[in-house]
Amino acid sequence: MFETLQSQPADKILALMQMYRDDPREDKIDLGVGVYKDPTGLTPVMRAVKAAEHRIWEAQDTKVYTGLVGDPAFSDAMIGLVLDGAVPRDTVAAAATPGGTGAVRQAFEMVRMARPGARVFVSDPTWPNHLSILKYLGIEVVNYRYFDGDTGGVDFDGMAEDIGKAEAGDVVLLHGCCHNPTGANLNPSEWDAVIKILQKTGATPMIDIAYQGFGDGLAEDAAATRKIAAAVPECLIAASCSKNFGIYRERTGLLMAIAADPSARKLNQDTLAFLNRQNYSFPPDHGARVVTTILNDDDLRADWKAELEEVRNTMLAIRTQLAEELQALSGSDRFGFLGQHRGMFSRLGTTPEKVEELRTKHGIYMVGDSRMNIAGLNRQTVPILAKAIIDVGI
Ligand code: PMP
Repeated sequence: MFETLQSQPADKILALMQMYRDDPREDKIDLGVGVYKDPTGLTPVMRAVKAAEHRIWEAQDTKVYTGLVGDPAFSDAMIGLVLDGAVPRDTVAAAATPGGTGAVRQAFEMVRMARPGARVFVSDPTWPNHLSILKYLGIEVVNYRYFDGDTGGVDFDGMAEDIGKAEAGDVVLLHGCCHNPTGANLNPSEWDAVIKILQKTGATPMIDIAYQGFGDGLAEDAAATRKIAAAVPECLIAASCSKNFGIYRERTGLLMAIAADPSARKLNQDTLAFLNRQNYSFPPDHGARVVTTILNDDDLRADWKAELEEVRNTMLAIRTQLAEELQALSGSDRFGFLGQHRGMFSRLGTTPEKVEELRTKHGIYMVGDSRMNIAGLNRQTVPILAKAIIDVGI
């Protein structure tokens, strides 16, 4: 029977990773896959994660199933981290999911169940997996303008005009912070304008927040999410713990569905439980338990926050250094946007041919749309990248 299957397009980033591994050059630089790396190139297990795992290992006396939406303590801890009381707790339904991807997938499924004809408005560009999941689920996608190739920032007028065309029953997908793949983000007054548009159109926001703590700080990165959630009647939020806790492979995420009032919460909660049941039944527990242990313990939480700040500041320092090197080499401010971007990624804004040239000539690997993982750099490799960028004529 399987001969009827059609081969699916290969994941470009995974293919790039393989090419990088096969490249014998010793000075090659990997700016492809989206994981944080410290200046030595390692993706470390965070100190608080190790400590929490140790505690869990000692205290855990059963591995019996948790609940269909995971351990309620995990939901409480994450709702606190993301929303910090922005909306009444009794309006928030939540389900633990396998990573942020699981939360995104379940959110789209919930939308499709509630409104079979709903359209989802997505930024151009967005994380490719948004598009591929939407396509797989047969949900109509509408692009809204987002990245301005000339400035390296956000084309906010274009965005505002495009999301203004959404209607009640449609969904507007927003990146809560640290936009992937561009690194370009809205400023607070632009977020306020987005809120006005959402209120006017009646479209439902869905916020994907996968990098809280990687941009301007834990509270700062969640500020837009909190403000939106408080300002509209209904909202979906897909949160990932992969990056900010460094627990990528543990598959830890939370989907939140905020209802207009507490009486509507139960239906949302039951729907989330139903969706988990259909797709994988009980969500993974280990990463969720690690996160709960850290967030609910003053010492572990403080240590986690301190280490996350180190990670954030490391990436900011690289950004600043890269923008400065490029300014010196090019004699212009045209790369200044790299210092303004936030999070792990920046879109350099060049052609696939130049990206290819960086790879073949200089052993520098980035995604074809010129997305660079800033964390793939360190103090020594920043000048090498800057020279290569100028050398290939970007
Ligand atoms: N959303 C966005 C925008 C992302 O970049 C990612 C990670 N690549 C995710 C969601 C989900 O990540 P994970 O499933 O690994 O938690």
